[in-house]
Amino acid sequence: MERQSKNLRTLYWLDQDLRLDDNPALEYAAAGASELLCVYCHDASRQAVDSFGTPRQGRMRQRFIAQSLAQLSRDLRPLGQSLLQVSGAPVMNLQRLLGEHRIQRVVRSRHFGVLENRQWEWLRRDNPAVDFVEIDGYTLFTQEQIMRIGDLPETFSKFRRQTERIPVISTVERGRLPPPVIAVDANSPEAGIAAAAAVQFVGGEDAAAAHLDSYFDGRSPSSYKQTRNELDGWPNSSKMSPWLATGCLSVRRLYQRLKQYEASHGANDSTYWLYFELLWREYFQWYARQHAKKLFMPGGITGDNPDYDFDAGRFERWCRGETRWPLVNACMQQLNLTGYLSNRARQIVASALVNELGLDWRCGAGYFEQQLLDYDVASNWGNWQYIAGVGADPRGGRHFSIEKQARQFDADGRFVAKWLDPGRKDVSYEAVLATGD
Ligand SMILES: Cc1cc2nc3c(=O)[nH]c(=O)nc-3n(C[C@H](O)[C@H](O)[C@H](O)COP(=O)(O)OP(=O)(O)OC[C@H]3O[C@@H](n4cnc5c(N)ncnc54)[C@H](O)[C@@H]3O)c2cc1C
Repeated sequence: MERQSKNLRTLYWLDQDLRLDDNPALEYAAAGASELLCVYCHDASRQAVDSFGTPRQGRMRQRFIAQSLAQLSRDLRPLGQSLLQVSGAPVMNLQRLLGEHRIQRVVRSRHFGVLENRQWEWLRRDNPAVDFVEIDGYTLFTQEQIMRIGDLPETFSKFRRQTERIPVISTVERGRLPPPVIAVDANSPEAGIAAAAAVQFVGGEDAAAAHLDSYFDGRSPSSYKQTRNELDGWPNSSKMSPWLATGCLSVRRLYQRLKQYEASHGANDSTYWLYFELLWREYFQWYARQHAKKLFMPGGITGDNPDYDFDAGRFERWCRGETRWPLVNACMQQLNLTGYLSNRARQIVASALVNELGLDWRCGAGYFEQQLLDYDVASNWGNWQYIAGVGADPRGGRHFSIEKQARQFDADGRFVAKWLDPGRKDVSYEAVLATGD
């Protein structure tokens, strides 16, 4: 961590780092602060609709974030701190807080979103007397480590070969927090919910920690490579993504647990493969940073300007799971009911939207943005580009045969029967995601 000045009135701007554990941005902010103001902005633009008419943040993710914030707010109180939540335009809100409280320094965890980086730059430009510091807390590596490998490789395979030798940054100890700049009356109705969740998607650091324990206390990591492609089933993949995406779980903490698991149960192809997937996540973060607004361009990083079709009816039928492919429909039902889809299912429905329905990949990415609990700007748009053939895929896109996928991954039709069962629509998402149900 870089050297820093001391005793500054500091504002810590939280977003995808909703935790106390292994939070280097918080530790950095606290270590150099005379007083600290922790702020989360409910960005109004995330409630807006995208250019295809899809609201950007759906109800399930809102709830997950609210649960995560409630826990954080509750956990800060015994440490003498509090969380100020503001709604509207982040830049205007922060601008006001900087002036009102004579803030000398703003700290945040490095962000990989284009809009979020623009907001950061605007604030920085308008407040030249304030120190702005970004700390790498969302990724395995720091920006400095990544820059040392030179230009970001254009394919994942090259990136993997170059980064596999880099040491992952150690987790940080939690230090004392300085007093608050202002006392915030944190009245959080969701407080207490998170602690109850051991194995389902409930927001907050407690649920993340409980899930981390339960995954690594079992033996699923040792067979991850064989099971990760399954369409369904709780232990078949780690299910860490919603907590990673909100920052309720630190990716370095996860990595540390994986290493501990390997030390006690032995390393094998599967434990390596879990790390391999974390490197995919890592790649997409730095890819988003590098390509910035190209992440959202029709031609992606290719620079082409393809003229896509957009048919509102076809798109809506895909969203609702009313296409002519039962497998696609079952996947979309699962997404709509739970906010989660396996990687395999994401690939199938994305390929169907692009290759079978001939729609603009960006409308599918926008719909995922709305629905996914684990929505992450870099992983979502980067993966969609990959499938649509306008991203980092050296093979120029992926076209999955739906019939073949159905034969291979749902030969007995159980997945389709489960998710197309009309009774499912009345069941809560916690219930329907249960293991092997
Ligand atoms: C079209 C499409 C959109 C996607 N959108 C997102 C998204 O918004 N947010 C998101 O976290 N993942 C996204 N993914 C990647 C992947 O599908 C999910 O991370 C994974 O299914 C989450 O389940 P898990 O935690 O059990 O994953 P595991 O298989 O257990 O993997 C462990 C972790 O590695 C990371 N990871 C795994 N696969 C990928 C991948 N292909 N790309 C990036 N990171 C990966 C995730 O953080 C995941 O939690 C997308 C994939 C596709 C094909």
